[in-house]
This record gives sequence, structure tokens and C-alpha cells, in this order.
Amino acid sequence: MASVVGDGAVALHEPRFRGNEWIYLKECLDSTFVSSVGKFVDRFEDDLAAFTGAKRAVAVVNGTAALHVSLLLAGVEAGDEVLLPALTFIATANAVAYCQATPHFVDSEERSLGMDAHALRDYLSAMTELRGGHCINRSTGRVIRAMVPMHTFGHPVDIEALLAVAHDFRMQLIEDAAESLGSTVGGRHTGTFGLMGTLSFNGNKTITTGGGGAILTNDLELGARAKHLTTTAKVPHRWSFVHDEVGYNYRLPNLNAALGCAQLEQLPGFLLEKRRLFDCYQSRFADVTGVRLVAEPAGCRSNYWLQTLLLDESLSGQRDAILTATNDSGLMTRPVWTLMHRMPMYSNTPKAPLPVAESLERRLINIPSSSGLVPVNS
Ligand SMILES: *Cc1c(COP(=O)(O)O)cnc(C)c1O
Repeated sequence: MASVVGDGAVALHEPRFRGNEWIYLKECLDSTFVSSVGKFVDRFEDDLAAFTGAKRAVAVVNGTAALHVSLLLAGVEAGDEVLLPALTFIATANAVAYCQATPHFVDSEERSLGMDAHALRDYLSAMTELRGGHCINRSTGRVIRAMVPMHTFGHPVDIEALLAVAHDFRMQLIEDAAESLGSTVGGRHTGTFGLMGTLSFNGNKTITTGGGGAILTNDLELGARAKHLTTTAKVPHRWSFVHDEVGYNYRLPNLNAALGCAQLEQLPGFLLEKRRLFDCYQSRFADVTGVRLVAEPAGCRSNYWLQTLLLDESLSGQRDAILTATNDSGLMTRPVWTLMHRMPMYSNTPKAPLPVAESLERRLINIPSSSGLVPVNS
């Protein structure tokens, strides 16, 4: 059944609640465990770890909080720099700023829409030096402590090449996997390659908890630290309130986790439907010149979170006319995010040359992507 939003338009991405959502939410209400402690929080974390293959998953209040705490645990400190794509959602940059560190924007590649490992290696070779085991930006004198590649619209970034760059330039790698639940590289789930990976369960993501996020890690000690730091750093005790560091109230409420458990059960079906939708669009656009549908990179499996058109450069001047015509006719389409260095608060931060990101910014259009837009066996 075609889905419509309030004004009769086909939505860009809307949630589907066709499973045990009502049952699990009722269980929460009946048990009175609606808040930050409850069996669904533990179950959601275990289910996420099982699905992704991560040794530990820690559920948190949203994806931005997951990024914030992951950066802190990676050792990002005030005055550091952190590399991230200029082509990302604002949360990636804001999480760096929350650590009083400076985002340092780098270019993307057309193949994956994510950070370009080869351009990055050349850039770092030219403008950094290793001192005291740290990567120092020679023009600012600051430590580049970490990089945060992001799996754009669910398409896996070239993570192995980026891990090699992070290793060679002595920095930590945190994956912003907010958009890529269900996406894999060589069979391994995105978000499990770096020191930590972060997920989002916002209302527009592949599965939703209303609002929510998670930290993935294969380091059990880091996982325990993440749980502690996101739950006010309270020392476990039957009645005493002792907190051993400045922690955060970033817990995911049990109500939201209940929704997450029900959604996760349906994820394999959602992924099939999203792939089917890609196939449909692919066959419809095959004969259209000047535009192509973004497909998963070789060797990877994308969750196809948001279906994406890429216009030829010669047609980039038509982008706004296409956005206007589609939205006017009831099909919700959107341009990609405005690049991070154009935001007033990030306009004076360091950045690499961004020719590909700037070109992609002019040419990318997201089109309706909800699971179930086309039935799997139609
Ligand atoms: C959705 C998203 C996040 C996290 O968003 P929240 O709304 O805080 O859950 C982070 N990074 C990217 C790239 C995202 O798309």
C-alpha cells in the first residue's frame, strides 16, 4: 500500500510498526518499568550485539549522545582535532564540539559517498607530523586524535583503507554508523571495525525507538566504561548514591527499548523491502540519461536506508527544479545536507580541499525510501 503523510505526499522515510510494538509497550506500562531500568533495555542491548556481531552494545538516548561518549572514551580532549567528512549530518560535528575539540573536515569519494581514504592519506602526509606518538597538524600545532568516518545513507565507507590510515597516523577510529544498521563489509557489520561504532534509532532511521542510539564495541572493558559513563557513573550499591566521575544521563528508557526490541525483530524484513525498492528504482531509472541511482559499493551490502539519485554535473543546475517539481507533485524529495564548513559555527575550522564533497552537494537527491513502498513479492 502506498504510504502518505498528512498532506497526501509520499514520505521520504516513515516508520513501520507491524510487529510486537503494542505488546511490548503494554508490558512496560503494566510492569510500571517505563524509565531507565527494565528488562527491555538489557534485551535490546543483547539483541543489538547479536545482530551486529559486536561483543557489546550499550543503548543510549540518541545517536548524538552515542558519538559524544565514544569520542570521550577514545581519548578526545579539549583542544584536539577530529577528522570527519564535510558531507555528513550535523550530529557528527556537534559531538566533536561537545568534547571541546575542533572538527577538521575532509573530502568524500563518489563511489561510497563517504570519506576518501586515498585523498586523506595524501593530505595527512603533506600537512601532519608524528610527534610523541601523536599526529600533529603542522599548521595549528594541535593533536589530531581521531577520525569519524560515516556510512552515508547506509552505503559502507572504505573502512579497511581508513583503518590503515588511522593506524599509520596514530589516531583512533570511531564509526558513525547511525545510518547503516544492517549494512556490512565483507559480511561484517558496519560499526564493528573501529574502536567503537555508533547507531541511531531516530524516527527516520531504518528502525526506530522514537529517539535512541547505541554504542557498539568489541572491547568489553570499553563497553563497561560506556555503560558506566552513560548511566551517571553511579557505583553499584543497594542504596548509596556514589558517583565516581562526571557521568551523563544518556540512558535509553525502557519504553523506547521495548519499541526497539519489536523493531529489531522486523529488521530482516525491512532490509529485504528496501533492497527490493532499490531494484525497482534501478530498473525505472536505467534508461534515464544524466542521472543514476547510488548502488552499494563492491564487496559491501548496503541497508539502502535512503535511496539516492546522483545527477551528472551538467545537470546540477536542475537540482532545485527537480526538488520543486517532485515536492509539488506529492513526492517528498530532499537535497543532501549542506556541507559542515558552511555552518556559521564551523566556518573557521580546519578543512582539506573538498572538491568531491562540493560536487556531491550539488548533485545528490534523496527520494522516497520507506520500507514497504513496494511489496517484496510483487
Ligand atoms: C541520525 C544521525 C546521527 C544521530 O542522530 P540522533 O538524532 O542524535 O539519533 C548521527 N550521525 C548521522 C550521520 C545521522 O544520520
